[in-house]
Amino acid sequence: MHVSIACMHYRSAETVKVASHGFLTAKCWWGNGLLFKATSASRAVPIPGRAMYKTVLCSSTAIRKGLHTPEVTHKGPKAKRQKPPQHQYDFDLFTIGGGSAGVRAARYSAGMGAKVALCELPRDFISSEDKGGTGGTCVLRGCVPKKLMAIAGLFSEDMQDAQGFGWKLHGKPEFDFHALQQNKRRELERLSDTYKNNLEKAEVQFIEGRGKLIDQNTVEVNGSQYKAKHILVATGSFASKIPIEGAEHAITSDEILNLDVLPEKLVVVGAGYIGCEQACIFNNLGTEVHFIVRQDLPLAGFDKEARQFVLEQYERAGIHFHGCSSPSKISKGANGKLTITVEPYKREGDPFDIKGVDEVLLATGRKSRTKGIGLEEIGVELDDKGALKVDDRSRSVSVDSIWGIGDVTSRVPLTPVARMEGTQLALHLFGGRSEAKPDYKAVPSVVFSSPQLAYVGMDEAGAVEEVKDVDVYSSTSTPMKNSLGRDGVKELVKVVVSAKDDKVLGFHMVGSEASEIMQGFAAALYCGITKTQLDATVGIHPSSAEEFVTLAKPTRQYRGGELTEGDAL
Ligand SMILES: Cc1cc2nc3c(=O)[nH]c(=O)nc-3n(C[C@H](O)[C@H](O)[C@H](O)COP(=O)(O)OP(=O)(O)OC[C@H]3O[C@@H](n4cnc5c(N)ncnc54)[C@H](O)[C@@H]3O)c2cc1C
Repeated sequence: MHVSIACMHYRSAETVKVASHGFLTAKCWWGNGLLFKATSASRAVPIPGRAMYKTVLCSSTAIRKGLHTPEVTHKGPKAKRQKPPQHQYDFDLFTIGGGSAGVRAARYSAGMGAKVALCELPRDFISSEDKGGTGGTCVLRGCVPKKLMAIAGLFSEDMQDAQGFGWKLHGKPEFDFHALQQNKRRELERLSDTYKNNLEKAEVQFIEGRGKLIDQNTVEVNGSQYKAKHILVATGSFASKIPIEGAEHAITSDEILNLDVLPEKLVVVGAGYIGCEQACIFNNLGTEVHFIVRQDLPLAGFDKEARQFVLEQYERAGIHFHGCSSPSKISKGANGKLTITVEPYKREGDPFDIKGVDEVLLATGRKSRTKGIGLEEIGVELDDKGALKVDDRSRSVSVDSIWGIGDVTSRVPLTPVARMEGTQLALHLFGGRSEAKPDYKAVPSVVFSSPQLAYVGMDEAGAVEEVKDVDVYSSTSTPMKNSLGRDGVKELVKVVVSAKDDKVLGFHMVGSEASEIMQGFAAALYCGITKTQLDATVGIHPSSAEEFVTLAKPTRQYRGGELTEGDAL
C-alpha cells in the first residue's frame, strides 16, 4: 500500500510504501527520524514518544505541494526502532521577548505546527532590564498609550471647532488627567493580557522571566535551561538619554506616557516622531510646551515641504519651537521646578534658560536591547549601534541558529513592520516557504501629532537624487471641519511622480485624518499606481482625501536632478 504522509507542521510531504497497519519510520528532510503507525491508506499516526510532532496527516494535496520525498528507512510491523536523533531539542523555536515581533513570530510558528516557547519579563509600564510585559512597547509604552493620549488631546481641538458650528460650551470644560491615566492603564493591561492569552491559545509555552543565551541552542530563564533548534531574539529597544549634565532630572517616553500629574510646563528635547507626538498631546491638554531641536525643522528624514508645513501648524497651535538649539544642562531648584539651559546649535546667538519647567522629555533616540543577554558571548554580531545584525531572512549574520526581528535589529522600527518580519520568519522556518523574507516596499509611516503627518514612498529630495526627472504636485486647503472653527488650520497633500514613467514615487499628507487616508494610498503605491491612474480615480466629495486625485498642475519639476519649474523649497 502507498501512503502519503504530509507533515503539516513543515508543510512537507512524503510518499512512503508501508504494509497495512504496519509501522514505518520516515526520515524527513529536516533530518529527524519519525516513527508512525499507518492506520489506513490515508492516515498514519505518530507513535507516542517517538515522534516530535503532534499531528501527521496524510494528504495527496499536500503531496502535490510538497517538495520532499523522504528516504524510508524502515517499514513493516516488526521494525526495529531507529536510534533517537543526536540533538534533542525542547522546542523548535524559542522566542526571547513578547512584543509585537516576538508574539507574531511565536503564534504563527506554532500555528504552522512548530513547538514554540516564548519568555517575557514581568509587566510594568516603565521598561527596564527586569520589567516589560506581553505586548511590549507598542501596547504598554508606545503606539497604544500614545494614541489614547493623542485622542484625549483632540477633544480639546474638537471643542474649539464645535463652537463655530453653534455649540455653546458653558464654562471652561474640565479635564481630569488622573481619570485618563487610570482608564488608559486599565485598557493597556487588558490588551497586554490579550497578547498573553493569544499565545496560550496558539499553544505557545509562555515562560515569565528574563531570557539569556547560554549557547547557540540554549536559553536560560529563571535558572532553567531550554534547548531549541532556532532561537529568536525579539527583545526590542529602549529610550536612551543624551549625556547632558542633569539628565537624571529628565524623563523618557516611558515615563511621560505614565505621568500621574499633568505638567504645567514641558520641555521636549528632540523632534523625531516621538517628540512631536508628545509635544502636541500635552499642548492640546493645556500644558505650555517648548521644543528644543538641533535642526531648523522638526522630523528629520521626512519630506521637507511637509516638515515646513507641519511646523507652521505646531506654532499656530501655540507650541514654542527653539530650532538650531541644543540643551546643555538641566538643574533642579528647591521648589522642584527644573531649569534647562539651551545653547545655539551651529548658529550665532546667546545661551538662554527655560525656567519653571515641570518635566523635561528627552526624546533623543532609542537603542536596541542587546546587552546582557549573552549575545556577544556566543558570537552574535552586533552593528556599530549595538543592533543585532541579520541577513535579509532575519538570520544572524554570524550564528545560524539565532534570528532577530523587530526593533532589536536596525531596520524599520514600527509595529506593523515587526509583525510582518515575524510572519515572514514563521513562513520561512516552518511554513515550507524558504524564500519568504520581509518586504519593505511601500511601508507607510505616520506622526500622530496635531495635525498628523503621514507618508509612504519617497520624499521629494530622495526622489530627485535617485530618479532625477521628477514632477511634484502639492496643494494646501482648509479642512471643512475647521472652516467654521479654529482659524488657520490647513492641510497639505503632496504626490511625487517619476516623470520618466509616470509612476507615483511617494504620497505625503499633513492633516488631521492623514493616518486613515494614507493606508489606501500605501496599497496603491505598493501596486505601482501611475499619476494617470490616480487622476482617473473618482474622488470622494467632500473630503480631504479627494485632494489627492485632483492635483492637476505640477508645483515643481526637476529634470536631470535640477529644478526646472517652480520655486525651490
Ligand atoms: C513612544 C512610542 C510610540 C510609538 N508609536 C508607534 C506607532 O504609532 N506606530 C508604530 O507602528 N510604531 C510605534 N512605535 C514603535 C513600536 O512600538 C515598535 O516598533 C514595536 O513595539 C517593536 O516591537 P518589538 O517586538 O521589536 O519590540 P518590543 O515591543 O519592545 O518588545 C520587546 C519585548 O522584549 C522583552 N524583553 C527584552 N529583553 C528581554 C529578555 N532578556 N527576556 C525576556 N523578554 C525580554 C521586553 O520586555 C519587550 O516586551 C512607538 C514606539 C514608542 C517608544
